[in-house]
Amino acid sequence: MPRTILLSPGPVALTEGVKSALLVDQLGHREPEFAALTRLVNTQLCGVYDETRQDYESVVLTGSGTCAVEAMLATFAPRTSQTLVLANGVYGERSAAMLECHGLPHELVAFEWTSGIDSDVVATRLRDSTEIGAVFAVHHETTTGRLNDIAALGELCRRHGKPLMLDVVSSFGAEEIRPRSWNVSAFAGTAGKCLHGAPGISFVVAARAQWETATRKPSSVYLNLARYRHDQGLSGYSPFTQAVPLLSALHEALHELERSGGWAARRQLFRSRGTKIYKALERAGVVPLVDPAQSSCVLQSFRIPSGVSYQALHDQLKAQGFVIYAGQGRFAPEIFRIANMGDMAATDIDNLCQRLIEFFRRAES
Ligand SMILES: *Cc1c(COP(=O)(O)O)cnc(C)c1O
Repeated sequence: MPRTILLSPGPVALTEGVKSALLVDQLGHREPEFAALTRLVNTQLCGVYDETRQDYESVVLTGSGTCAVEAMLATFAPRTSQTLVLANGVYGERSAAMLECHGLPHELVAFEWTSGIDSDVVATRLRDSTEIGAVFAVHHETTTGRLNDIAALGELCRRHGKPLMLDVVSSFGAEEIRPRSWNVSAFAGTAGKCLHGAPGISFVVAARAQWETATRKPSSVYLNLARYRHDQGLSGYSPFTQAVPLLSALHEALHELERSGGWAARRQLFRSRGTKIYKALERAGVVPLVDPAQSSCVLQSFRIPSGVSYQALHDQLKAQGFVIYAGQGRFAPEIFRIANMGDMAATDIDNLCQRLIEFFRRAES
């Protein structure tokens, strides 16, 4: 049976090396070998981008990307001033819901899902409000595939002296990230997307100065990153049982990323896959939701042509070995998404393109 290729924004197809790394046996999370592995992975994570090699520290925690985002907010969002949440999709809005659950003051500024973050609106809020203590944004809004302009946002935050927290769950490892230049105090990512690790382990990287503030009363026990940083930084141990096989797989995935040329090479790879998919769908008359120039390299979303059923498209492709992804939230009936992360060959993408063209040609006739 031909293997199925997942074209969803996580989980992704794993390399044989990463799959083998999952099979760790008899490695206890209270043993020094595991503590050493934890420290090594944190060093690897800070090494993916030049600007986090110094003055930033990483912690890993067991849980999916959402867990890392929530832990970051629970640990770093100010208690006595507001976090300005900038949302243009599901993930930005979810972060406001997290702050709400934790009883942390915030203001949600929601933009159209089809547009970017409007700098003028943000500038006005930062100028007019005396309540804002920090800003939160999503780098790659996976709802639509839009890559938000964080350089411009970071510059605004710097001018107003506000730390910027980022969700980089679906961009870390494949898009440019410049935390120092962009005034980013903390960001949250995951193993199971662009890094090609297994899902279920995630991480938060924060500037040392931001870590120093993480001592006040936490709103969660499990998600209190101050404890993780204290323990992992000191000894490599973690406060709670860690997903040992998943950390082992992440270690191998980060090693493979570095060996294959790092994030820039991965961006190149994803871009070339994405371009093929754009071209094929363009030939089939299918229109992208987001201008390709503003889209990430990781995922593209397309409008479902009238008269076409997403379910039929999904089911036919699945029978042919490819699993694509539905729209999310209020976009569910309107779009479909194709992520191109994961271990696959160029011929796999060529075959996918062929299948897409066949499907839409048939749908037309
Ligand atoms: C996938 C994703 C998340 C959530 O990650 P899970 O692993 O599903 O918990 C958060 N933010 C963004 C931008 C994502 O793409």
